[in-house]
Amino acid sequence: MELETSYDVVVVGGGLGGLTAANILGRNGYRVLLVEQHFQLGGLATYFRRGRHIFDVALHGFPVGMKKTLRKYWSPELAGHIVQVKSVRYDNPQFSLETDFTEVDFTNKLISYFGIDSETVKAFYSELAGMNFYDLNTMTNRELFEKYFPGRNDVVRLLMEPITYANGSTLDEPAITYGIVFSNFMSKGVYTFQGGTDLMLKMMKTILNNNGVQISLRSKLEKITLDSNKRVSGVVINGQPVKCRSVMSNGNLLNTVYDYIGRDCFSPEFIEKVETVRLNNSSCQVYLGLKQGEKIDYIGDLLFSSSWPEFDPARLISSEVTSRTYSIYYPEIRPDNNDYTVVASMNATYHDWVGLSASQYEDRKKSLIEDTLDALDKYIPGIRDKIDYAEAATPITFKRYTLHGEGSSFGTKFEGLEVSMQLSEQVPGVFHAGSVGIIMSGWLGAANYGVIAANQLDKYLSFDIADAK
Ligand SMILES: Cc1cc2nc3c(=O)[nH]c(=O)nc-3n(C[C@H](O)[C@H](O)[C@H](O)COP(=O)(O)OP(=O)(O)OC[C@H]3O[C@@H](n4cnc5c(N)ncnc54)[C@H](O)[C@@H]3O)c2cc1C
Repeated sequence: MELETSYDVVVVGGGLGGLTAANILGRNGYRVLLVEQHFQLGGLATYFRRGRHIFDVALHGFPVGMKKTLRKYWSPELAGHIVQVKSVRYDNPQFSLETDFTEVDFTNKLISYFGIDSETVKAFYSELAGMNFYDLNTMTNRELFEKYFPGRNDVVRLLMEPITYANGSTLDEPAITYGIVFSNFMSKGVYTFQGGTDLMLKMMKTILNNNGVQISLRSKLEKITLDSNKRVSGVVINGQPVKCRSVMSNGNLLNTVYDYIGRDCFSPEFIEKVETVRLNNSSCQVYLGLKQGEKIDYIGDLLFSSSWPEFDPARLISSEVTSRTYSIYYPEIRPDNNDYTVVASMNATYHDWVGLSASQYEDRKKSLIEDTLDALDKYIPGIRDKIDYAEAATPITFKRYTLHGEGSSFGTKFEGLEVSMQLSEQVPGVFHAGSVGIIMSGWLGAANYGVIAANQLDKYLSFDIADAK
């Protein structure tokens, strides 16, 4: 792909945050270049093909808010593909139940299944609804749950395990991060994209092209260059300098600060803050494709399964796997492709996978697949004989395809948000729209953060033009 010599904006990374930011800025008339180091768009929200199987990496479910975000910042047609997931199941030693993951159903379950009184449930929901991202709220998840459900580890498991499965949130993290995400889901349940991630990305690419965004794949940002006033002057992509007035980084926050800009370009106080930012944990996944003609009877769309006796966030990332989330993709997701696939996801840490020899690594991946097949047999009897494809991804895989440090699946933890939002105060012209904390990640969070950051960048460029006049 031939690059121009200069752009208004270079968006670095084709994750949902970068894609959405690029689309808004292109639509607003800026000359936008979107560079993606991988050969495919989507970042973590991606897919891959193996024979006739298409595997979705991160399409387990998202809140209904995604419909509005897609409609407003992409197209009504794209939003029209969002459909509700019918059934979410939990199966663990404390309880086994099925829910549509709405507030009404959760309220019923809390009262009739778990025996909580209705006033307490109401008060809990109203505390969550009152949580405001901009309020100074120091309450932790542990304190929140102790306040309403003291000593009820089973209730905490119901309320928190899906969020912990997703991103490793612990009981010691700010309750606000849990509360906002949980409330987003609770409004109307869990949703998915009919047609799959492949169709969504194809449609997004067409819209980006129509809005004049130039897309360059296999193009890695190596450096953001600054002028003598420490403002953005350009970027280096695969060794090639390109001039630009601003950069939107959708890459990992820490890479953006340390590698693409450089710590010398920031104040020591700011760098002190950056040094406190923790990466999130990573994931392992096992992808299973069924032989042609084989079926799975409906067992729910999303199944949170654990054999661990209690809810314990630390156990969810242990290399000794006891907990898995299964996403079951029936032919309805891609009506023109009569295929069944299952994706099992587990939380994981990079350190458990790095430094293995090639053969050790392959052996561990094989065990991950075998153990998953053993565990899944409980829900899909004879699964081993039904499949014709199995593959595993590890934190090493996630790192390779996204460049997130330690293969982090949700960027950085919550403290990254402040650093991310203040980047442009330190280096005018650099903005960040990448996963920082659970509120600004996940499909909805990442896309919405792309909107927020694009608006900030737009403001910067408008002032920049005004300055020049
Ligand atoms: C296993 C798993 C399951 C998940 N399931 C769900 C789910 O069910 N629901 C949900 O809402 N969320 C889910 N998520 C999370 C969700 O997919 C992510 O939070 C979201 O997609 C992140 O978007 P992002 O914009 O932050 O960018 P990312 O997806 O992190 O993408 C960043 C992009 O930037 C590119 N990049 C980085 N550095 C450079 C560089 N130097 N030059 C060029 N390109 C660069 C990367 O290659 C990548 O494409 C899941 C995540 C994982 C790992």
